Amino acid sequence: MSTQRRIAGRGGEIEPFVYTALPLRVRFEQGGRSCVKDELSAIGRTRAMVLSTPEQIAHAEEVSAALGDASAGVLPLATMHTPVDVTEKALIAIEDSAADCTVAVGGGSTIGLAKAIALRADVPQIALPTTYAGSEMTTILGQTENGVKTTLKDPKVLPASVIYDVDYTLTLPAGISATSGMNAIAHAIEALYAQEKNPISNLLCLDAIETLAESLPIIAENPQNVEARQRAQYGAFLCGMALGSAGMALHHKLCHTLGGRFNLPHADTHTVVLPHAAGFNAVAAPELKPVSKILGAESVGGGLWDLAKRIGAPLSLSEIGMPEHGIDEAADLAIGNPYWNPRPFVRNDIADLIGRAFAGERPKT
Ligand code: NAD
Repeated sequence: MSTQRRIAGRGGEIEPFVYTALPLRVRFEQGGRSCVKDELSAIGRTRAMVLSTPEQIAHAEEVSAALGDASAGVLPLATMHTPVDVTEKALIAIEDSAADCTVAVGGGSTIGLAKAIALRADVPQIALPTTYAGSEMTTILGQTENGVKTTLKDPKVLPASVIYDVDYTLTLPAGISATSGMNAIAHAIEALYAQEKNPISNLLCLDAIETLAESLPIIAENPQNVEARQRAQYGAFLCGMALGSAGMALHHKLCHTLGGRFNLPHADTHTVVLPHAAGFNAVAAPELKPVSKILGAESVGGGLWDLAKRIGAPLSLSEIGMPEHGIDEAADLAIGNPYWNPRPFVRNDIADLIGRAFAGERPKT
């Protein structure tokens, strides 16, 4: 499959594109967490505050020990959706400790806190991702204030260095592994047809989707399978790069609207909406054609739905806590904030799409 794609790519016309390479260093290595002090030197910093959620304090303490006298301590404050008041508390602790960088050990929430700190102070981040969310590869930061989540893009928030250590993903529960993996696939699906799509990110997307579609079912059966975990982590890395390079469209915007309005879990929302958003866009996005082949399905929407079902992920918005009356409200919100998408849409398209995702139906071909 990969070879065919590369040969086919040589034959056709290359459309004009813009590609921006993001300046960050990546170490992909089992046990790589023990090299955290070397990464500190590599980015020219000397004293790091280690960030985590309260649940992952043990991971953070291990990294703090590996830093030795270069550790400024552990700050287990990270919270989903990056609330601004938490960032402000963390900034005070960092100033008091004289740390000149952070090490974020965790998923998108912890990396989000380190990004929010980097935005406000000259404190770069080393990231040790422990989920498949991919935030470490982007200049995007989502923050919540007074119950409203807003997103910005700033090169300052990009981590200076990323260590992918598979060992820290082995404790990720099977359920979160499934939804986090689908969240990663969502980045690659949307990057394939996003406004800033480019041939480099397209290569990343197809390899990433293939790698994740193959490894996630193995992880669902055996979360301790290190090889499958490593392939999923590699796929997620590529998905994050693609998101960072090409951007997003309807699917991500719908997930932000639904997640923000109804406080739905981030990765679960992506998992449920993706088959419907990708199915809707497939008619206007020829870039999705190879994806149905990769998934072994007659359609991209159907293939994504089958994959989610196979790995035990949620299939309906109703089962993840969205109220039925929210369908119309979400459609109004989404249409009130127009954004680019390969397939133009009207309010009823969005209401139908959310309605089908609410019910958890397999997308029509
Ligand atoms: P998360 O970071 O909120 O983690 C979910 C839970 O799982 C937390 O309790 C965490 O401590 C725990 N956990 C994480 N890894 C673990 C592990 N290996 N073992 C045991 N427990 C573990 O979840 P997420 O889905 O990674 O991140 C969601 C957040 O990231 C959202 O706020 C989302 O907006 C943001 N995000 C941002 C971008 C971006 O580019 N800016 C991209 C993706 C996600």
